[in-house]
Amino acid sequence: AKPLLEVNNLQMHFPVRGGFFRRKIGEVKAVDGVTLSINKGETLGLVGESGCGKSTTGRSILRLLQPTAGQVLLEGEDITSVKGKKLWDIRKDMQMVFQDPYASLNPMQMVGNIVGEPIRNYYPKKKSEEIKQEVADLLKRVGLPEEAYYKYAHEFSGGQRQRIGIARALALKPKLIIADEPVSALDVSVQSQVLNLLNELQDEFQLTYLFIAHDLSVVKHMSNRIGVMYLGQIVEIADKGSIYENPLHPYTQALISAVPDASKVGEKRDRIVLEGDVPSPENPPTGCPFHTRCPKAIDKCSTIKPPLKEVKPGQQVACVLYDESLLKS
Ligand code: SF4
Ligand code: MG
Repeated sequence: AKPLLEVNNLQMHFPVRGGFFRRKIGEVKAVDGVTLSINKGETLGLVGESGCGKSTTGRSILRLLQPTAGQVLLEGEDITSVKGKKLWDIRKDMQMVFQDPYASLNPMQMVGNIVGEPIRNYYPKKKSEEIKQEVADLLKRVGLPEEAYYKYAHEFSGGQRQRIGIARALALKPKLIIADEPVSALDVSVQSQVLNLLNELQDEFQLTYLFIAHDLSVVKHMSNRIGVMYLGQIVEIADKGSIYENPLHPYTQALISAVPDASKVGEKRDRIVLEGDVPSPENPPTGCPFHTRCPKAIDKCSTIKPPLKEVKPGQQVACVLYDESLLKS
């Protein structure tokens, strides 16, 4: 089957300006060559520390940001630089669920209007009674009471607001949903309810998710495959089992070592603690971007930049230790 979404060598570099004339004095390489694909009905989790470029990757795919290089294909169609009407059409198929549902909901509008707005925009000839019914069905489907239609977002709890945001994202029956930390602003007690809802909706509407989070246990719950990002790049991508049971990249190994393992109660995992801070994406290290913190770094890591390569079936890793030809060079 053809993937629903393909991203090839995506780049999003922001200029850094300074001085009296606001000249370009540098560049932040927020996303620096991301390649991934997501099959229809699948969830790809994207993890990494804050600032690693996960959100920027999501926004560049949705064209909320115009990527500076690379390619985004939706069902085989290159949408990287589509404009105007075409971009408008494509946006219908790709929706975003945001981290802070409240900030993305208009406080002056009734919930019914917030959720119905995309339908009215895209189907201006649709009868208002019909739209109202669709919205009522959506609100019901995401677990909100009927009265929610006539209320305002501030009258709801965080979890309920996220349900409103999800209903709105579903209104146009999108093919792809990019969920950017959709539960990290919520109380732990409601997180799993919202995650379960997202899982149910995926089955029911054959949705494909790019699920962005910094919390590895949240991603585990949601994903079929997982991509690990560091400094604007994917350093490892594999199915969920391989990432959790047999991580190969030293950065993935460190992240996984910090996740409590429910199957080994009482047994202590050897926690790999990384030294130092993530370098600035304005001034990334030469060679492997992780070499300044990598516990397994060897001399050539500071000069050779390892590409993402398939090391085991379905498991791609960017590390010289798994790359015979780079090791020998
Ligand atoms: Fe560590 Fe070197 Fe592998 Fe980078 S290439 S992850 S520095 S061992
Ligand atoms: Mg983010």
